[in-house]
Amino acid sequence: INLLNFLTWPLSQMSVLIGETKRDLASAERIFSVIDSVVERNDGQAFPIDFSQPAVVFDKVTFAYPNQEHVAIRDVSFSVNMNETIAFVGPSGGGKSTITKLLMGYYDTYEGQIRVFGHELRDWNLTALRHLLALVTQETFLFPESIGENIHYGNLKRPFAAVEDAAREAQAESFILAQSKGYDAILGEMGDTLSGGQKQRLAIARAIMKDASIVLLDEATSALDLESEALVQIALDRMLKSKTGIVIAHRLSTIRHAKKIYVLDQGVLVESGTHASLLEAAGTYARLYQRQHLLDDGEGLHENLDL
Ligand code: ADP
Repeated sequence: INLLNFLTWPLSQMSVLIGETKRDLASAERIFSVIDSVVERNDGQAFPIDFSQPAVVFDKVTFAYPNQEHVAIRDVSFSVNMNETIAFVGPSGGGKSTITKLLMGYYDTYEGQIRVFGHELRDWNLTALRHLLALVTQETFLFPESIGENIHYGNLKRPFAAVEDAAREAQAESFILAQSKGYDAILGEMGDTLSGGQKQRLAIARAIMKDASIVLLDEATSALDLESEALVQIALDRMLKSKTGIVIAHRLSTIRHAKKIYVLDQGVLVESGTHASLLEAAGTYARLYQRQHLLDDGEGLHENLDL
């Protein structure tokens, strides 16, 4: 009886082990498929920047995501010169973020031409291309490391001393210094110890650190408290002053500062112009704008123009 008792425990453990092994095998399969996946092509050239060329040109670009029947953008053409900022607005699903994804070189199955500083995007070496671009999105990934390291990550080749300058420029210094350990304060996972506005300012500091020529900015749609909103706006204005900016805009203040506004609806550019000229044209933009009841609002810094 004693010996039989010794047998029951290993037998019951067997069933647990079998379940665990099956789960582990499934995980291993996923890990190996990531390891085996095709690495992006990266055989292009690192062209020197030709300042006489527009920073970015889209020439009749049509694109559908892999295995999708409907196109995400159709016949989209626009250009942006050095140190100019243009804005894209339009309803959700219009194709705004598709434009930034194409520029980052995530997909190269588009029709038409995309040129960055005069060279077709497909001819660029992806690493060199991405050195030119800083992407500031709503979902910036913050590592569970110190605040300083998170900013430094924008460009590890620059000395750590530049981190403080970037933080100051991004209006992030005061809240960083308010942490008990300052720049050495460790962020919680996904940065969830910080408010939305603080996370955005860290993302901007990281982009400033990168010192890229072209900033792709996907403005946050989420409401920020007024103080954060104002600080984020100052940080963005400063950053964009000396950069080429392509902004997916939700905020009236950004839209007003843009050299040109493009309205994207269901993948098609339906209108373009300045804020004033688009209002005057009384088309889609004006209609969307009026629907937001923003016409009578003065500067409307905190208004969310979620068109
Ligand atoms: P916006 O940024 O204006 O909200 P998107 O560029 O995200 O619009 O989307 C444009 C179209 O492309 C939408 O119809 C959307 O469903 C589709 N789309 C976006 N991302 C993907 C994806 N990864 N795979 C397939 N379709 C996508």
